[in-house]
Amino acid sequence: MTPDDLRRHGHRLVDWVADYLEGVGDYPVASRSAPGDVRAALPPHPPTSPEPFDAVLDDVASVVLPGITHWQSPDFFAYFPANASGPSILGELLSAGLGVQGMLWATSPACTELETHVLDWVVDLLGLPDRFRSDGPGGGVIEDSASSATLVAVLAARHRAGGAAAMGEMVGYASAEAHSSVRKAFTVAGFRDDQLRVVDVDEHQALRLDHLRTLVEEDVAAGRRPFFACATVGTTGTMAVDPVRAVAELVVPHGTWVHVDAAMAGAAGVVPELRWVNDGLELVDSWCFDPHKWLFTNFDCDCLYVADRSALVEALSIVPEYLRNAASDAGDVIDYRDWQVPLGRRFRALKLWFVIRHYGAEGLRHHIGRHVELAQGFAARVEVDPRFELVRPAELSLVCFRAAAGDDESERIMHAVNASGRALLSHTRVDERFVIRASIGQTTTEQRHVDALWELLGAAADGRPIEPRL
Ligand code: PLP
Repeated sequence: MTPDDLRRHGHRLVDWVADYLEGVGDYPVASRSAPGDVRAALPPHPPTSPEPFDAVLDDVASVVLPGITHWQSPDFFAYFPANASGPSILGELLSAGLGVQGMLWATSPACTELETHVLDWVVDLLGLPDRFRSDGPGGGVIEDSASSATLVAVLAARHRAGGAAAMGEMVGYASAEAHSSVRKAFTVAGFRDDQLRVVDVDEHQALRLDHLRTLVEEDVAAGRRPFFACATVGTTGTMAVDPVRAVAELVVPHGTWVHVDAAMAGAAGVVPELRWVNDGLELVDSWCFDPHKWLFTNFDCDCLYVADRSALVEALSIVPEYLRNAASDAGDVIDYRDWQVPLGRRFRALKLWFVIRHYGAEGLRHHIGRHVELAQGFAARVEVDPRFELVRPAELSLVCFRAAAGDDESERIMHAVNASGRALLSHTRVDERFVIRASIGQTTTEQRHVDALWELLGAAADGRPIEPRL
């Protein structure tokens, strides 16, 4: 493709994306594709001769779009959001255009230095402790996902506790509501299943400190080494918040690495009144959050911070001759390949930089604060409506509720809303009971969309007909 062709097709594609985002609220939110539909519409073999770009774009509309669930729809309330924005999309495009592989400082200094700098900005933006800044022993890095952040935290913790040779006696802790990526990280790192202790949760779905204390005491008495604890700020099921400070105070005296998974809720720190989400972070070893969930930055982008980067770098650094260079040898630079599992890395800082500059701290504060207000308004409606019960107070952007008439009715209502294509909700279980989750965090979700969701729920609960979105 010549630069002129790229310009021509690129303009068309950017127009296509802008049109798509302008009209995304008109599509049924969840894809109606059945398994195999998308593949059945594709030719069985790759083309032998070149195809015009227009033909490819046509197939995007006719083959791909029907198989898309519209995560950017203002009526998307399922899971946690993956909220993108214009500046992040353009940052992603620029990253692809530059085509940089930023494994080392030397392979593109701007890729490393912009990342370090933007991650220091994020410390200011979210009111994080100074120990996460890059000018001391700590610092931040962009990982592809919170799952990877947890994995590298586990690897750094294992290194600090004596490395793979000593891992037989190591034990780690996470609550029953922690994300499944904690268990996956232990599995990938080669731990036995019983080396991750599952801590019970209380009636708020938060880690029970008394149970953690009992487990740690048993382990220490048996000669085991509590090397890692994960506290979650904003659990996936119900956005519950573990007592980070108390967890750290309990386990740090045992030399335990404390990792905080704030994948979703961490972004709340842009709003000064919500900075209670940062409580205790000055005591922990690592913390992560996903701008690709709730900070208007398209997937993938997770920010991981460590208080002391040496354990991470020592755990993950291997220097083959072909990557040696003067700047790295002199120890003058950060080489982010040593902060992650893969060698290669994309220039992800660009999109985060674009987002922060486009919105400014004020804009981000406004949008995140607005989502929380919308969630709280919605929760207030649920609370006073006899057809529904609020399962947890909506402290942030997630409303967990159910039908007063029981689990079957909750399921029926949720499926009726989802089947209409007018909104998309998801669910979890709390104490074995079915809970509907309304997660409010899409970039373009406004009061009218939340009002429409409330109307839909009411119609579904009353058994009134709902006109589907086709
Ligand atoms: N941690 C929490 C609390 C989550 O809610 C999620 C996903 O929803 C994850 C981790 C995994 O996120 P990622 O897809 O970035 O690995």
